[in-house]
Amino acid sequence: MKEISIPFNKSTQVGNEIAYIKEALLSNKLCGDNLFSKKCQKWFLEKGFKNPLMTPSCTAALEMTGILMGIEKGDEIIMPSYTFVSTANAFVLRGAKIVFVDIKASDMNIDENKIEAAITHKTRAIVVVHYGGVPCEMDKIKSISNQYNLFLIEDAAQALMSTYKNKMIGTFGDFACFSFHQTKNFTSAGEGGLITINNETFAKRAEIIREKGTNRTAFTRKEISKYSWIDIGSSYLPSDIQCAYLFAQLEKSEAIYEKRKSIWNKYYSGLKELANKNLINLAKTGDHINHNAHLFFIKLKDINQRNKLIEYLSNQDIEVVFHYLPLHNSEAGKRFGTFSGEDQNTTMESNRLIRLPLFYSLKDNQICKIIQKIKDFF
Ligand SMILES: *Cc1c(COP(=O)(O)O)cnc(C)c1O
Repeated sequence: MKEISIPFNKSTQVGNEIAYIKEALLSNKLCGDNLFSKKCQKWFLEKGFKNPLMTPSCTAALEMTGILMGIEKGDEIIMPSYTFVSTANAFVLRGAKIVFVDIKASDMNIDENKIEAAITHKTRAIVVVHYGGVPCEMDKIKSISNQYNLFLIEDAAQALMSTYKNKMIGTFGDFACFSFHQTKNFTSAGEGGLITINNETFAKRAEIIREKGTNRTAFTRKEISKYSWIDIGSSYLPSDIQCAYLFAQLEKSEAIYEKRKSIWNKYYSGLKELANKNLINLAKTGDHINHNAHLFFIKLKDINQRNKLIEYLSNQDIEVVFHYLPLHNSEAGKRFGTFSGEDQNTTMESNRLIRLPLFYSLKDNQICKIIQKIKDFF
């Protein structure tokens, strides 16, 4: 098979990834919560995150929140339909019904002004997704969750290092879940995640749920002399090899952040002209937010034009992709959820969107080529 000259995503080692994996291997202690897991955890604590626990994925972190909140059959969970399946599956697994709320065309995030209409006496939680690392309107959303006494969960899979009014994303909800999948800004060798717990009442139990329902974590801290089965639980620990890879990336977090920002800004300034002519739409965000340049999207006129551009760029050896197929239109989404009110933006806006290549080792001449080819298309 021919290799694409500009792929959509590529994993890049930026620092000591290989050396740290070797160190982990030579330590002969590869299971969870060893040397590099602890180093990562310390890094997140120093950044101001509360009760960080490394997980095998963001999916696992989201599942933990469902268990911790005690979600039961018939409970309703509010979230956008424009998201990855795991946001919904974590709660469907506990028997919950998903109530999908429309997004805003400006940034593809949940429309904070449409949340209240979706709340019923069965609603237990609001899950926000900071799409593309662009923070949702947290002031408004937090005031709604407080007013109706609902849990607030941040699906921050894409949003590490983003801020809302200078406050770190992941510090607003009762829980926040991050992903270190290969496609995200920082990766733990392909798969990985993190849960942070701002609501202290859940901090102790989270350790137990994560360790197969045992108090083994307290045991390894030498707080108790033996550990035993005390609650429900599962296995939500990543191997220390995964954390070794991630720690090397965290050490280079500023460089990764700056590099992605610079790519994002180059796309933005290069494509602004097409946006000014109303040929495409770019993301619009307020001055009170700072995003982490997780992804760069453009929106075309409609799905036909979008698909033509994908094909055109593919013929030029440039791989671009679209996502997500709105969950409420999918087979499982229809079975497990309902859409609150009218779908004004979710389907239409997702049909128009494509994501451009954005990864650490993307070169200036490649960015220029992509911008030029998009201009040529028009
Ligand atoms: C990537 C992603 C997930 C899933 O992350 P994994 O680590 O692959 O489980 C969940 N939600 C959103 C919004 C994502 O982008």
